[in-house]
Amino acid sequence: MAGRSFKGCGCAIAVLVVVLGAGGYVGWKYALPWWKTKPPPASGGELRVHVLDVGPANGDSILIVSPSGKTVLIDAGDTGKGKAILEALKRNNIQQLDYFIGTHPHPDHLGGADEVFKSIKVLNVIDNGQGPDVPESLAPPKPPEPTAGKKPVAAKPQPKKKLDQAGVITKFYNEYKEAITKVGAHYEKAVPGTKYDLGGGARLTILGPNEPLFTRDKISSGGNLPNANSVVARLDYGDFSMLLPGDAEEQTEHQMLTKDLSLKAKVLKIGHHGSKYASAQDFLDRVKPDVAIVSCGEWNRYGHPSQVVLDRLKTVNPNVKLYRTDLHGEITITTRGRENDHVIKTAKEAKTDLWVGRLAQKDDSTRSGFIAYGDFGPPPKKVNSK
Ligand SMILES: [Zn+2]
Repeated sequence: MAGRSFKGCGCAIAVLVVVLGAGGYVGWKYALPWWKTKPPPASGGELRVHVLDVGPANGDSILIVSPSGKTVLIDAGDTGKGKAILEALKRNNIQQLDYFIGTHPHPDHLGGADEVFKSIKVLNVIDNGQGPDVPESLAPPKPPEPTAGKKPVAAKPQPKKKLDQAGVITKFYNEYKEAITKVGAHYEKAVPGTKYDLGGGARLTILGPNEPLFTRDKISSGGNLPNANSVVARLDYGDFSMLLPGDAEEQTEHQMLTKDLSLKAKVLKIGHHGSKYASAQDFLDRVKPDVAIVSCGEWNRYGHPSQVVLDRLKTVNPNVKLYRTDLHGEITITTRGRENDHVIKTAKEAKTDLWVGRLAQKDDSTRSGFIAYGDFGPPPKKVNSK
């Protein structure tokens, strides 16, 4: 009898060990990653996101003010837009920027950065570590290969016209880099998975660009290299979330869909100012935003936002709320992190139908590297106030 009961007891222990082991494994495999990536609880304080008006040309600049007062500026509009951004910072009583994120080296995102850096303390600068994409035809010629026993021959000087054209492409970037050094901000490269604690329960997570970065030969028709390698970030605060993809386009969206990333978000800053090359249907299906924000200028000649993107948005969520900086001016979102408590205010009321896109002034469907400066000529002299 004693032997049998001992045997029964051993069996029960074995079952218990198996059950505990399996439970532990499930916990380690699923619960631990969930617990580790779970955003901290919202403090109940107010988080603000200002999608700034850096028009009338295209550009992005987004200010985040966390419940604890930490600040993030994502991009700084085009060259000359520093003043408008500094005014917005002043209006919001911002004394310093804890983080500046440069999504990619295009002037409509980094052009105003040096002006901002010179006037307000910036502690940390994050970007993708990539410089502007200078076309090979404008790149300086390589010096000829040295031949043994012969005097090295100097490279032919770059023709002035080409130097000037290359200079236009790189000037804003050089100024941005110089400004980082000059103000002594800490610089770091955006690494996917990095989380920045903004205090009060708000958190910013880097989702892209993912290695290996896109190279020029991998860019699909209509795509653009700097855009493809945009820094993509995600803001979480309690029940609130916002996806900030810079100018990332379809091929970057598709790359992100293959990764195990948290893409579902309440608010989506529409990629690349609403370009038809971004916001693919399957990407929008995954993000499933309740609110979509297009940051674009009323003078843009690229057809931003594109009608197809606006139509896709409606297919994904017929109740999606749309906001556009070209029609609304600055867009301000406030939330205390509670379920659907976000409130959105705009600087002005839209005078035209939000759901009508703009027409591109040039067909670019067969081109790669769509944004080539000068392609569209200078912007119109008079603002079309309609
Ligand atoms: Zn842009």
